[in-house]
Amino acid sequence: MHFTCEISKQMTADVVVVGGGTAGVFAAISAAKSGCKTVLIEKNSMLGGTMTAAGVNFPGLFFAWGKQIISGPCWESIERTVALGGATLPHISFHPKHHWHEQIKLNPFVYTTVLFQMCEEAGVHVICNAMISYASEEQNGVRCVVTTKDGLVAIRASVAIDATGDATLCQLVGFDMLKSQTQQPATLQNHISGYVAHEEIFERVKQSFAPTKLPSHITADDLIGYLKRNKINMHVACVDADTAEGRTQLEKNALYEMMKVVCFLKEIEGLEKLTVDSIALETGVRETKRIVGKHIVTAEEYINGYTYPDSVCYAFYPIDLHVEKGIEQRFHEENVVSKVPYRALIPQKSHRILCAGRCVSSDTYANSALRVEAVCMATGQVSGAAASVMIREGVDAADITYQALCTTLHSMGAIVPNEVL
Ligand SMILES: Cc1cc2nc3c(=O)[nH]c(=O)nc-3n(C[C@H](O)[C@H](O)[C@H](O)COP(=O)(O)OP(=O)(O)OC[C@H]3O[C@@H](n4cnc5c(N)ncnc54)[C@H](O)[C@@H]3O)c2cc1C
Repeated sequence: MHFTCEISKQMTADVVVVGGGTAGVFAAISAAKSGCKTVLIEKNSMLGGTMTAAGVNFPGLFFAWGKQIISGPCWESIERTVALGGATLPHISFHPKHHWHEQIKLNPFVYTTVLFQMCEEAGVHVICNAMISYASEEQNGVRCVVTTKDGLVAIRASVAIDATGDATLCQLVGFDMLKSQTQQPATLQNHISGYVAHEEIFERVKQSFAPTKLPSHITADDLIGYLKRNKINMHVACVDADTAEGRTQLEKNALYEMMKVVCFLKEIEGLEKLTVDSIALETGVRETKRIVGKHIVTAEEYINGYTYPDSVCYAFYPIDLHVEKGIEQRFHEENVVSKVPYRALIPQKSHRILCAGRCVSSDTYANSALRVEAVCMATGQVSGAAASVMIREGVDAADITYQALCTTLHSMGAIVPNEVL
């Protein structure tokens, strides 16, 4: 079968960023603030990706051992959200009781509004409801075709940044990918209400517990925890969620599994009126594919705070691999902070394409930590700044000068390793 499709519109840009999520928004803002004509393509109707559409609105971690390690436009977005009443900054200490106490709970409505405003102020041309369908690297640039509400749009740009979470742009170009043997479960965020949680109900839950009526991993204690927190921890197996078929299956499974839990609970006296008030627009995916970059960050490098010759941002979060029964964690030694090398953002065979967010080049365990939101934002900023340096210096991604990249990052308030700690 051979189809010829009509392109309804042609566009040119210095930088095209695909994916307006946690990382992509800051890739676009950083490129635009550095003087690049920047287009941002986002498949959803809102910006923020997993942070807004999937309801994972608690970024970690901007601080390590009592000091700020990630700043720049992404920190400005947090400050602006706080100023609008959409977040409260946590108390920061050298030794927090739990690392997640230093995550910042953001109101998704306020946060996505702030992201649109910041993009507009920086001059980013945002196109929502648009999905990348084709991409190729060409002499001194990248060509992509985007499917939009009003037809196919062809975009020619000097640099492209893949911030899709799934490395979709890189997959379309044909770059090599890394994939963990088992992908971490995905989670559908939700809120439940319509009952009063008390000991008698918990006792009834224990007595009527029937594993055959529930998803296999759920225990009676889990159910009691859900009732106490007004939230069902709806973890589902995640297989190939970077494909349309895999993603569809994932969304169906999450809904069906959650319906089983809700129906089971509603049969218990006192929970008849339990209701699911809200679910996230999409199930939160922890992991799909990552690029094979010019450097692959390993768990040992990560947890020991290895300093690379091209370290471009800090990262701080324990290794945090969600497995079938619980989480495998590994913590930093005191005063150790991880770094990310610029080469982890460059696909091995790329000339003009960079990558940011959870799909950066890293092994399974290192990625389980690097994927957190503040780090995704920081790699976004690095990719946008690097794109501007590529254009200024007229060179490929791998050939920019490290000093120029650091200076550009510094000029937008980003913290660059070796200068602060
Ligand atoms: C359940 C769960 C719990 C988590 N808990 C925490 C936590 O406690 N703290 C923390 O900091 N992090 C946490 N994380 C990790 C973190 O949320 C993600 O790793 C991070 O948000 C990923 O950022 P990203 O920019 O790579 O991807 P995303 O934020 O997902 O952004 C990708 C964007 O690209 C868009 N897109 C995708 N494909 C296309 C396409 N083909 N064309 C156009 N647009 C496209 C998407 O719509 C999205 O907006 C959690 C993740 C999950 C799923």
